[in-house]
Amino acid sequence: MKDNRIILTVIFSLLTAALIYLLLNRPDRGYIPYLKVAGDVKNVLYFNNFEKNEKQVLKTVIEKAVPLGEEYDVLLTGSDGLIAKIDNRTDGTYLNFSTRNGWEILNENHPVSSQIKHLKEIIVINREENAENSLFIFDTEKNTVSITPGQLYEKSLTRTLNFKGKSNIVRETGEYSVSVYTTEFLYPLEEFIGKKNAAYMIIDGSGKNHYIRSPGYLIYKDNRIDYLDPGKKNEIKDIKGILSDPPSVSNTGAYHDALKFIGEGKKVMVIFLDGFSYSQYDYALKNGYSPYLASLPKAEKATTYFKPVTNVGFAAMITGTGPDENGIHDRSYRNLKSSIFTVLKEKGLKSLLVEADVRILDHGANEILNIDRNKNGSIDDEVFETAVKELSIGYDYMMVHFHKIDDCGHSFGPFGKETLEQIRISDEYVEELVRNFNGKIIITADHGMHKTETGGSHGQARYEDFIVPYLTIDGGAQ
Ligand SMILES: [Zn+2]
Repeated sequence: MKDNRIILTVIFSLLTAALIYLLLNRPDRGYIPYLKVAGDVKNVLYFNNFEKNEKQVLKTVIEKAVPLGEEYDVLLTGSDGLIAKIDNRTDGTYLNFSTRNGWEILNENHPVSSQIKHLKEIIVINREENAENSLFIFDTEKNTVSITPGQLYEKSLTRTLNFKGKSNIVRETGEYSVSVYTTEFLYPLEEFIGKKNAAYMIIDGSGKNHYIRSPGYLIYKDNRIDYLDPGKKNEIKDIKGILSDPPSVSNTGAYHDALKFIGEGKKVMVIFLDGFSYSQYDYALKNGYSPYLASLPKAEKATTYFKPVTNVGFAAMITGTGPDENGIHDRSYRNLKSSIFTVLKEKGLKSLLVEADVRILDHGANEILNIDRNKNGSIDDEVFETAVKELSIGYDYMMVHFHKIDDCGHSFGPFGKETLEQIRISDEYVEELVRNFNGKIIITADHGMHKTETGGSHGQARYEDFIVPYLTIDGGAQ
């Protein structure tokens, strides 16, 4: 009898164990956790919907999120906190889902420590410097730091737990409390800029410039970087740049100063040199490319707005506001509710915009477009001629938009021979216009230009693109 009972118990235990094993390893178990691909990618990817037990090439999965850059590393984060970084060579690396190991990496080539199980996140880290999605920390003369969301993630791995608060509840049996922490990636800004007493301008992706007095934290958020103030209360989302000791002037001054001068009964001309950075201005002054500008008082350093492209800078100059107010965030926006041209029209004053061959914004201006009539590859000479011809009309406000410094900057770089030669030609245009205009002249730019491998570009919150010259002078023969 006793033997039978032992045998029955053993059989029962074996059956139970087998059943549990089968249940746990059911190939069609319903719930598959989400896996996230983030970091230096265009689209943050969450997915749990691919075929079970069918391994996928890791690179193909990553490419679905569109990595920003050719050269990148891949961080693999497991739910147990284990993290492995593998280099760009993801051939022979597969992603698999199994009931036992969750999302897991199967790797033929890399060392075995890369075989992370219960994978939670795949973070793409751009290895290129000054990548498209970099956040820049800069002053008016240099970029001190450039870091992408993925690079910040990696740097923040010695992560700080962010204390979110404590709550208590009193019951008959006593008081129970809970403290809540999140694993946000807070990276003290001070680690980048050192301990110094400065003012900072935080430039966010919506085009708003925020002024702060003491540095807070950078937070990694999937594929962007946010800013958190030192008191950990207020966040600024999707920041693109941090400018230390920001100038007090921006190119919106072109609007405000113009209206001020007009209010004083003076006529105003704005000379708008597209793509002319403060660093080009300074270089041209010191190296003899701008003898006329060099004879004038030194221009102030002024900021423009994100994204530093023509539509945005131009809109700031003619509305007196940044993109968060005027609604012009990049090249695809063009509708303005009001501008200096409509404001002056309402006052019964005469204004004119002398422009190249394309209307850039719907600004309500009385506009003269120009074409390259003499086919010399530049419309600036025609813009100049038109402006000189129109001087006799006696407009209350004229804006003259020259484009060629920007064109040359793109093709030959901000300090290319051809670009500097164009700056010299523009200097002559400026001299002629100033000498022949009786009124106030404002000289400024929409954005600057940084050097690239193939020439030049702009559109990032970095000193070369963001800092432009700003100068007001009296016109007329001196
Ligand atoms: Zn341009």
